[in-house]
Amino acid sequence: MFKRILIANRGEIACRIIRSAHAMGVETVAVYSDADKQALHVKKASAAIHIGDAAAAASYLDGQKIIQAALDSGAQAIHPGYGFLSENPDFVDAVNAAGLVFIGPSADAIRAMGLKDAAKQRISEAGVPVVPGYHGSNQAPDFLKQEADNIGYPLLIKARAGGGGKGMRLVSSPAEFNDALDSAVRESIASFGDGSILLEKFIESPRHIEVQVFGDSSGQVVHLFERDCSLQRRHQKVIEEAPAPGMSDAVRKAMTDAAITAAKAINYTSAGTVEFIVDGAGPLRPDGFWFMEMNTRLQVEHPVTESILGIDLVEWQLLVAAGSPLPKQQSDLRIQGHSLEARLYAEDPSNGFLPVSGKLHRLVFDERCRVDAGVEESDNITPFYDPMIAKIIVHGSNRTDAISAMADALDNTCVAGTQTNLSFLTSLIQQEQFLNASMTTGLIDDCLPELLASKEPEPIDHLLACLALIQWPTEVTQSGFLSGFRLFGAATKRVTLNFQGEEHHHKLVLGPQKSIQFYKDESQFVNGDAPEVSIDLEEITPNFIRFHENGRRVVVDAFVWQSEPFGDSCVYIKRAGLAHNFTSANALTTQEQGSGDANTVKAPMTGVIRVVSTKPGQQVAEGDALVVLEAMKMETTLTAARDGVVEAVYCAPNDSVNDGDVLIQLAVESEKE
Ligand code: ADP
Ligand code: ADP
Ligand code: MG
Repeated sequence: MFKRILIANRGEIACRIIRSAHAMGVETVAVYSDADKQALHVKKASAAIHIGDAAAAASYLDGQKIIQAALDSGAQAIHPGYGFLSENPDFVDAVNAAGLVFIGPSADAIRAMGLKDAAKQRISEAGVPVVPGYHGSNQAPDFLKQEADNIGYPLLIKARAGGGGKGMRLVSSPAEFNDALDSAVRESIASFGDGSILLEKFIESPRHIEVQVFGDSSGQVVHLFERDCSLQRRHQKVIEEAPAPGMSDAVRKAMTDAAITAAKAINYTSAGTVEFIVDGAGPLRPDGFWFMEMNTRLQVEHPVTESILGIDLVEWQLLVAAGSPLPKQQSDLRIQGHSLEARLYAEDPSNGFLPVSGKLHRLVFDERCRVDAGVEESDNITPFYDPMIAKIIVHGSNRTDAISAMADALDNTCVAGTQTNLSFLTSLIQQEQFLNASMTTGLIDDCLPELLASKEPEPIDHLLACLALIQWPTEVTQSGFLSGFRLFGAATKRVTLNFQGEEHHHKLVLGPQKSIQFYKDESQFVNGDAPEVSIDLEEITPNFIRFHENGRRVVVDAFVWQSEPFGDSCVYIKRAGLAHNFTSANALTTQEQGSGDANTVKAPMTGVIRVVSTKPGQQVAEGDALVVLEAMKMETTLTAARDGVVEAVYCAPNDSVNDGDVLIQLAVESEKE
């Protein structure tokens, strides 16, 4: 076995590889960019070497620097993880030329599968069904149009060098073909420097089912069963599971045989995945699946396979790369139960799943399940790399148990500080087609409105946010709530809360026995109205609030942090699987930094104006909210720094403004003596 290996990656997969290597007594060398000086993979590795700038091209994609780092650190082998250089055959050649071992397949095997058209050709010749289509070299648009008409619509245009769903276009009718071709070619040139495309019949009601394979240097290949990865957004997987629901012995035999045939056709070694598109319109059929592509690396979703087989694929990779035979024979491998993986991302599902960056002020996972994370609390999600926070992996004795374990795991996950897809994942695993396993790859798109619905906070969430913000000292709440209020000498509290740019003026009436009555948006109510919510508070801590509502005891995550750069108070409330972020309007109105001198209100950062609540000639008082700016996915209220008269307003709702732009000018008063 190797004494020391270098890991040419970052984030969760680097941490994942370190875990197995250390368990095997193998030392690890991490590499890191400027953006990752404090990263978890750097802390976990036995040693770490800085390789360059934050930009991937100058660090994690710079093969020469990485090979040099391996040589300098005395590593004997390089594990590429996934992404970055993992499927770059020239890198593999360079690693070998430097006298090092590449922990993965041969350069030839990667080359054989690197271009989708050549791969399909080769695999089809080996006798594996491929999606009908045109995979040839004639790229003349008229010719392609002719081929497309022969294949029939709907069809897919794919970049032959494609990956990650890029360069892919669905064409539903002949009239759309030419435009779709143009844009697919443009995108593939931009993304892969290769404008060649292939055409494929679009399999309707498609499911994505893939087979994990593993080969060793003696030519032995086993399959490690299948994974269903049909839950996708933008052709990218979100939730994966193993085994595939509805799989029969006959279909499994046909698919795993095909996968092994494909792997053997290219003398495959190490971990690889053969991806199939499957007709999901009815029950799975032995003649209802087609080869799509082979991923010549460890995949993101490999843990679900490990989970149902009780094996460690990274350990296998290290053993096989060091020349050992496969640790298990096909007959030793049996599926145990069911496993699910959910990918937790820093992203905004309601905004096209756009990645967001930010600091993870609080990050807590369910300790009862496996979590593969590359970050820890207080780390930042930077804009430079993939915004995945963690993979949450659960196991159950059957699919139903696994789904309920996932529901618990998501419920016990808390991420405050950056927007995430956590609530979206929670909705997704409650979705009917997912529950009854009739999902296709179109599920997320088809059900998006439903999956994003009812994400508005309820009055109780507002109340909890108010309670979290008030931040009573713990001793007070523990020694007796009522006395606590007596201490503060008030039975009524007013709290101004900001949710997505809207101010809410709430009233809390604190009664005996720790009871609280909540009047949402107080101004809309007249005296005598019933409160919208009544609860009995039990305990408030910095991380959760425990209370009784309608006789039921409830615990919710409630966490307050100060946002950067202004130190505004932000509140995270997660209740019933839904997370909401509020800000304290009080804090915003008292913030003084960054928003101009006393005479002007300036944009503290680049963003978009949402609300302008003043006009020229208006008398304003210090602290009055004048403008709401949306930036870095947060609303910031900009206020008057002094009493005065507005002289000019230089912005309007929906204007884009730059950091430092003057938004409001106050009339300059003569100096007071
Ligand atoms: P990438 O290299 O981007 O992973 P793939 O060829 O693996 O591209 O396809 C990605 C996804 O696109 C699949 O998981 C599936 O959801 C969809 N897809 C690909 N080919 C087809 C097809 N022929 N019919 C229907 N959907 C397809
Ligand atoms: P439920 O029965 O509503 O699922 P849980 O016991 O799972 O309640 O708690 C819900 C949330 O409250 C959890 O996500 C957890 O983070 C938080 N929580 C509960 N109890 C504690 C505790 N003792 N310390 C810290 N957090 C807690
Ligand atoms: Mg793919």
